[in-house]
Amino acid sequence: MSELRWDPLDRTWALIATERGRRPRDFMPLERRVKRDEPCPFCLVLQGHGPATRIAQRKTPSDAVFVLANRFPVLRVEAPTDRRQVGPYDFVGGVGAHEVVVETTDHEVPFRRLPPEQLAAVLLTWRDRVVDLQRDRRFQHVEVFKNDGPAAGATLSHSHSQIVATPVRPPRLNNQLEAASAHWRDKERCLVCDILAFEIEQKIRVVDHEGDFVAWCPYASRNPFEVQLAPRRHSAFFTELDEPQARSLAELIARVLRVLDRATSRGDLNVCLSLSPSTQSFTRGTQGLEHLAQFWHWRIEIVPRLLPLGGFELGTDLVINPTAPEDAAQHLRSLLG
Ligand SMILES: [Zn+2]
Ligand SMILES: [Zn+2]
Repeated sequence: MSELRWDPLDRTWALIATERGRRPRDFMPLERRVKRDEPCPFCLVLQGHGPATRIAQRKTPSDAVFVLANRFPVLRVEAPTDRRQVGPYDFVGGVGAHEVVVETTDHEVPFRRLPPEQLAAVLLTWRDRVVDLQRDRRFQHVEVFKNDGPAAGATLSHSHSQIVATPVRPPRLNNQLEAASAHWRDKERCLVCDILAFEIEQKIRVVDHEGDFVAWCPYASRNPFEVQLAPRRHSAFFTELDEPQARSLAELIARVLRVLDRATSRGDLNVCLSLSPSTQSFTRGTQGLEHLAQFWHWRIEIVPRLLPLGGFELGTDLVINPTAPEDAAQHLRSLLG
């Protein structure tokens, strides 16, 4: 059974998930982790074989998106919800949810080649699952992410993303909530709106835009060719994404993925949604989040995994990025054509 353990010195949680350790490929060399010759568990499920709980599905004109329960969940809905002190540490039972979004029925189509209408269906599937999971008052956060390629942590090549609901609020989200709410308290403006207004005026780090959305290389990018996407107009909640917006965002994501594929030698990347926290959770409630709709602004991060983390990065939490985001953005713009 999984559990969350609090490190009081680093002020962060570790998710100890020993059942995951039994996954056969976890400790294999990177290049052997994604095996293409074994039967794909998602294809088996889609063909009606193999045990899997289907949670949801969304049909598209020529394909479909499926949501399945993860076979090796890091957190489980039926796990205990206890919270207690253990000497100088803290412990939280591993209650949560872990779902897999199978993004296409076609095993051979990688994420970077998914057509925009399929990407739009993936975005709307993410939205619907987040709405559903945020209703569960035991969960303080819902993380939507994608590991694409072995260097990004993927062990299966069939295009898929994952959704994990956690019983604690991640420290990174807490830091961002504090920064955004402090900015709002001081200036009565949204921090991300201020960042976007500056970037759109400056133009040098903007990669592309479509409809209500803009893509840019962040000023303090920690990784070469890191790209963020966000609605240009203030929007706190990804769960309010409508179908026309999903179509424009999907067009933009498809173009960004295409130029990233041309710009980088290997296609491995992570995608993370920067979502507002669940405000329903009974342990934290809405304390400090009364003005969330004003100060929070959702984003999507696309992070190519070009460099492994070294000792300096592990020791300091500072990441050395050899590519200036201005140069990355200019190069990506030049490849848009
Ligand atoms: Zn497959
Ligand atoms: Zn905003």
